[in-house]
Amino acid sequence: MKRRSFIRNSASAALLTAMAGCDPSTRQTGDSPGAVTGKLPYLHQGRIEGYRDFNVIDRGLTINKIETFSTQNIALVRVTADSGDTGWGQISTYNSDIAATILHRNLAQIVLGMDPAAIDEIVDECIERNLKYPWSYVNRALGGIDTAIWDLYGQIRQKPVCELLGGSVTPVPVYGSSMSRTIKPDEEVARMTRIRDEMGIKAFKFRIGKEASRNGDAWENRTEDMISTVGGALSASCSLLADANSCYTPDRAIHYGRMLEEFGVQQFEEPCPYWETDWIREVTGALGMDVSGGEQDNDIARWRSMINSHTFDIIQPDPLYLGGITRTWRTALMASKVGIPCIPHSANHGMVTLFTLHLMRAIPNPGKYLEFSIEFEEGINHEVRSMYGPALEIEDGKLNLPAEPGWGVTVNPEWLLKADYQASELG
Ligand SMILES: [Mg+2]
Repeated sequence: MKRRSFIRNSASAALLTAMAGCDPSTRQTGDSPGAVTGKLPYLHQGRIEGYRDFNVIDRGLTINKIETFSTQNIALVRVTADSGDTGWGQISTYNSDIAATILHRNLAQIVLGMDPAAIDEIVDECIERNLKYPWSYVNRALGGIDTAIWDLYGQIRQKPVCELLGGSVTPVPVYGSSMSRTIKPDEEVARMTRIRDEMGIKAFKFRIGKEASRNGDAWENRTEDMISTVGGALSASCSLLADANSCYTPDRAIHYGRMLEEFGVQQFEEPCPYWETDWIREVTGALGMDVSGGEQDNDIARWRSMINSHTFDIIQPDPLYLGGITRTWRTALMASKVGIPCIPHSANHGMVTLFTLHLMRAIPNPGKYLEFSIEFEEGINHEVRSMYGPALEIEDGKLNLPAEPGWGVTVNPEWLLKADYQASELG
């Protein structure tokens, strides 16, 4: 039996709290609408038995406007109710302009006119009415709408989202996540050592293999050198994780997994192509270390199958690839029921890290630490950090969670001026 580490509390006790009520005033007491047909519960879209649909605000409002502000790499969403209340969310990074178009083409006509209080119904309708256009872009667009509605709740209730979900505003420990496969082993050690000493971060992830490369490597023996050099230098002072980004067949994954274990690395992420779930399960069963993954997985029924067959020791759903907070919450509860921790995926400093912070402080089964990119000013991080404020800051190895209502940040009006604008509204 592998070790299970949650930040706060045991899964079983917290799961009861999560199912029975979160913030007691945010949940209704009846069964979820449409969830029971005939003799057996119809546990659609990732509901577990006993799940109660959210009821965070009073019913009676209507969503009458959805706006997007997009560049190629980032898009923000603003949802407005007929009361004039608004909320801000974000579509996942990269090709966000395409996802914004999908939002207006495929989702807006479903969501406009609905009651924002019915968020479970809204996300289910968006998925089910798009059954011919499954997953990726529909879910990315839905993530923008769902996160904007959660912010709307926060503005109406004047509470941060994590409190609406039953959590509390306290800092979350992070692991420093390297995205680089061009960095040399000694350079990676120097960078992580400096960040450890300057920022107090005590866990780091480095990259091995090469992304979806059929057992490839960035250069000959880089993976062996990374494992021995980073593991040898840092495993005594830090927790270490490695990410293979869908690289290996099971035999190679188990080979490198044993090497990682030998050098004190504790967690092995995405060892095999993520679509090869039998391969991943074989690796998880063979290794003593924790195997994690799932950032690309956006079909919630597939999540149920992977969770119940113990494909991973730790699940890492991405809130914005999966379709927002509501669907990530359901996925975390499914894992909680069988004692598997959840660390939502947050690979850049956009609002996805903020969403993950709130989730980590509310789900009953958070893992030990949140992913935080250590390419602080490079690539996408430079761009997303100009989008909202105040910036996420590390203090003593932890990320502070904003205590203001909703997501607790303000959108930068100058960034909005540079973005392409589209709006859908009730006519
Ligand atoms: Mg990863």
